[in-house]
Amino acid sequence: MSRNAELVARARAVLYPNYKPQPISFESGTGCTLVDADGREILDMAAGVAVCSVGHSHPRLAEAIAEQARTLMHVSNYVYNTVNIELAEALVKKSGMGRAFFCNSGGEANEALLKMARYHFFAKHEPRARIIAFDNGFHGRTLGALSMTGTKKYREGFGELGPVTHVPFGDLEAARAAMANPKGGATDVAAIIVECVQGEGGVLPAPEGFLQGLRALCNEYGALLFLDEVQTGVGRLGAWFGFQKFDVQPDAISLAKGLGGGFPIGVMVTTEALAGSLPPGMHGTTFGGNPLACRAALTVLAILETENLVEGAAAKGALLDELLAGVVERHPAVCAETRGVGLLRGLVLKPGFAARDCLGLAMDAGVMLTAAGERVLRFTPPLVVTEQELRAGVACVEQVVQALEAKTST
Ligand SMILES: *Cc1c(COP(=O)(O)O)cnc(C)c1O
Repeated sequence: MSRNAELVARARAVLYPNYKPQPISFESGTGCTLVDADGREILDMAAGVAVCSVGHSHPRLAEAIAEQARTLMHVSNYVYNTVNIELAEALVKKSGMGRAFFCNSGGEANEALLKMARYHFFAKHEPRARIIAFDNGFHGRTLGALSMTGTKKYREGFGELGPVTHVPFGDLEAARAAMANPKGGATDVAAIIVECVQGEGGVLPAPEGFLQGLRALCNEYGALLFLDEVQTGVGRLGAWFGFQKFDVQPDAISLAKGLGGGFPIGVMVTTEALAGSLPPGMHGTTFGGNPLACRAALTVLAILETENLVEGAAAKGALLDELLAGVVERHPAVCAETRGVGLLRGLVLKPGFAARDCLGLAMDAGVMLTAAGERVLRFTPPLVVTEQELRAGVACVEQVVQALEAKTST
């Protein structure tokens, strides 16, 4: 038995089976290359789901984490710590917003948004607790975040969630209709939460003018506009934040995935106007803002800057789009279209093909991808990806597409 097969058997005996991982166990990685337990190299076009923004084992990030671990890892939020202050300053400066609350994941950052929205209106003696969210939107798996996640299957079976009203993504009129208070009178909606590109839902960019329409709607009803930038933030779209790319001003955003380059960290960034909405004692987390996680994030930001990776994401994204468009053109029986922004791209398969079923074939062909929605092969490579790696990755995926095509024509 190969070492990899042996590890997979061990994993299946002890890991809680809430995932269905591919039968491969990785042990190391450099840049966009991962190495499994048998020494086999895989080209990483997933980056741990848009997380490893500066690639694997970036020497500068690895050294910064090691150095910080030797210096100070954790002190709690009963005191300040210098790295946390520096990271908050960097995020506030880059976003043009006012305040940062640190936590450990995307779901937690969205929980903070949700609690802030509710408490904001509670403190003003306005009875507003309902959130408007969108079908196929993804905001995480904790109960509060799950209540906002727009895939019914994920919410089913977990009891009463909400109050959240889900409306079709891109449908401004449906969002407006959802503002109506079911009990009559003034709206009970505290906030709208939206992704500027639905990631998990199938790499769907917000239609032209949609986010601006939501902004206007929130202004009209005195509700808050939240952008979940857990997947789109920190350079991936070719701008520091998606709201800058889409030219809309949210009241608050959530970030996580790419921020720590693989080190777990999440953050809610709000406007200065919301600084009083969650007063001392109303929310918190033990690990949030610890020096080790903040050092990782601060170093990721520095690497993105010195290696010009944010501008690079726009240029590389354009190339990836062009390469995928070629695949669509050559294989119209299998591929429907390519869509996305920057280095968050999807190859959309025709109805009848399941993206999930392609991931194993892609791994066999030497490339790691993720699926988004039912029919989208999602590309979220590390932002350090090279042109050559993008070409190689797409070539591997074209082999998979060819195999599917051969199957359908027989
Ligand atoms: C991944 C993701 C989340 C959840 O983040 P976790 O760190 O898994 O809790 C929330 N929102 C979006 C848009 C995401 O892509």
